[in-house]
Amino acid sequence: MDDSWLFIGLFRGLAFSALIILAFSKVIRVTSGGLSTDICVGLLFAAAGFVSMSDPITFAPGIFYDGRVPVLALAYTFSGLPGAIITTAVIGGYRLWLGGAGATSGTIGILIVAAAGILVGRIPNRFFKLRLSKAASLGLASSLSTISIVALPHAALAMLSWRVLLSVNAVNIVGVLILHDFLSHERKGLRLFRTLERDAAVDPLTKLANRRSFDAKAANVLAPAQNPDGNYSVIMIDIDHFKSVNDTYGHDTGDGVLADVASIVSNCVRKSDVVARFGGEEIAVLLPGVDHTRAVIVAEKIRRRIEAHEFAGTNPNMRVTVSLGAAGANISTTGVEHALKAADAALYIAKRNGRNRVETALAA
Ligand code: GH3
Ligand code: MG
Ligand code: MG
Repeated sequence: MDDSWLFIGLFRGLAFSALIILAFSKVIRVTSGGLSTDICVGLLFAAAGFVSMSDPITFAPGIFYDGRVPVLALAYTFSGLPGAIITTAVIGGYRLWLGGAGATSGTIGILIVAAAGILVGRIPNRFFKLRLSKAASLGLASSLSTISIVALPHAALAMLSWRVLLSVNAVNIVGVLILHDFLSHERKGLRLFRTLERDAAVDPLTKLANRRSFDAKAANVLAPAQNPDGNYSVIMIDIDHFKSVNDTYGHDTGDGVLADVASIVSNCVRKSDVVARFGGEEIAVLLPGVDHTRAVIVAEKIRRRIEAHEFAGTNPNMRVTVSLGAAGANISTTGVEHALKAADAALYIAKRNGRNRVETALAA
C-alpha cells in the first residue's frame, strides 16, 4: 500500500472534523447543560465514530484505519463520563460486530483510548499551562492504543510496518489537536455568551431581573398560551425613608438592606411571577393569572414580612418598612405599561397616606 492513504485520511479527517464541530456547536446551544448535554454530545461522538468506521481505509483484510480515535480520546473531556460511556459502547460494539482479523485488537484499542481519554481528561486544567498542552497529552495518550496490536494474529501483524503505525498515530494526534482546539473554542464562546446574556438581564446587587428583562419576561408570561384568561396584576414596592438608612448606617448597609428586601419579595411570590428591580430601591412584581383582590393579599403579605424582618449588621438590628401599590388588569384591554403606571400612582398614595401600607388601583 502506498502513502496516498495518509493524505486521503488527513483530508477526510479534516472535513469530518468540520462537521463534528458544527454539530457540537449546535448541540451545546440547544441542550440545557448538565446530563442532557453530556448524553447528546456522547451520542454525537458515537455517531461520528460509527459513520467514520462505516467507510474505513483498509490496510489488510479485517484491519482498518478510521476516525474513531480522536472522538474516543475527546469524549470524556467534552461529554463527561455519561458521554464517554455512550461513545465507547457504540464504537466498541460496532467494531466487534464488524469482526475480521483485527476485531479483538481493535476493541482492546478502543477501550485503551477511552480509558486514556478519561484519565488525562480528569487532570485539572491548571496542570496544563501551555495552550494545546492538554490536547497534546490526550493525543499522545491515545497512541497507547497501539499496544493493542499485540492481540493481532501473526499474519496480520506482519503486514503492518513501523511506517504505517507511526503515520496512523501522527494522523490521530493531529486529529485530536484540531478537534480539541475547535471544540474548546466553541464551548468557551458559548460560556462567555451565556455569562454576558445573564449579566445583561440581572441586577448585580439584588440578583433580580432588570427593567429590560422584566419587559421580555412579562411578554412571555402574559402570552395567551401561558395565561389564557388574560388576568394579571402588578405590584410596585418602594422602601420607606431609605435615604435615612443610607445616611444613618452608610451606603453599604443600605445595599445589604436592599438585597434582603429583594429576597423577601422573591420568597413571597411564585416561581412563575416576575420580580424586577426598577432602578433605585423600587421593585416591581408581575403576577400572571392573579386578579386585583388576590394581588392585594400578596402585597399585604410582602408588607408584613418586611415589617417583621430584622436586618442584621447594625446594632440594634434595624427594621424597615415598604409602601406598595397594587393594580389588577386584563391583558386584552390593558397593557403592562399602563398597569405599572396605575400601580405607581397607588404607591404614591400609599406614601402620602403615611407609608408602610398597601394602596390599590384598577388599571382597566
Ligand atoms: P420615601 O419613603 O419617600 O420613599 O423616602 P426615601 O428616602 O426612600 O426616598 P426615595 O425613594 O426618593 O429615595 C431613594 C433613595 O434610595 C435615594 C438613594 O440614596 C437610595 N438608593 C437608591 N439606589 C440605591 C442603592 O443601590 N443602594 C443604596 N444603598 N441606596 C440606594
Ligand atoms: Mg423610598
Ligand atoms: Mg424610591
